[in-house]
Amino acid sequence: MKKTVDDCIFCKIAKGEIPSTTIYEDDDFKVMLDINPASKGHAVILPKNHAANIFELEDEDAEKIFKVARKCAAAMMEVLHCDGINILQNNGEAAGQTVFHLHVHLIPRYNGDTVNITWKPGTPEEDAAELAARIKAAVK
Ligand code: AMP
Ligand code: ZN
Repeated sequence: MKKTVDDCIFCKIAKGEIPSTTIYEDDDFKVMLDINPASKGHAVILPKNHAANIFELEDEDAEKIFKVARKCAAAMMEVLHCDGINILQNNGEAAGQTVFHLHVHLIPRYNGDTVNITWKPGTPEEDAAELAARIKAAVK
């Protein structure tokens, strides 16, 4: 039995209550074209178990989702003849998350396109070693 949330649009899509342009589906995931694509063929992978973000994602889904991403990305490269593909996932409003049911974006990239997924490279933190040590100690 999948865990779902009543007022979650992606749960409704995962259950088939709201239609979607599905490109892949199995027992655990649905992959659909994004309704407001960043580029031609932009798709999103939804686990059928509701998880608001990566921290709530069940281990089993976490283990499987990258395989689904690879499988769909390979098909997209073949069909769309794109030149590359970004695979990304946003957690929290500050990171650009707008739908709070975890999803992984598959964004086909075309040479010279206007998709903007960039940042200005910074300089290393002065206390990078200390920072790394603190994070390392917190990894569970
Ligand atoms: P994020 O900003 O990472 O939370 O991404 C949410 C994505 O879901 C956006 O790219 C939306 O365009 C997409 N989206 C929202 N509602 C739908 C829908 N009903 N069908 C397909 N894609 C959707
Ligand atoms: Zn949901």
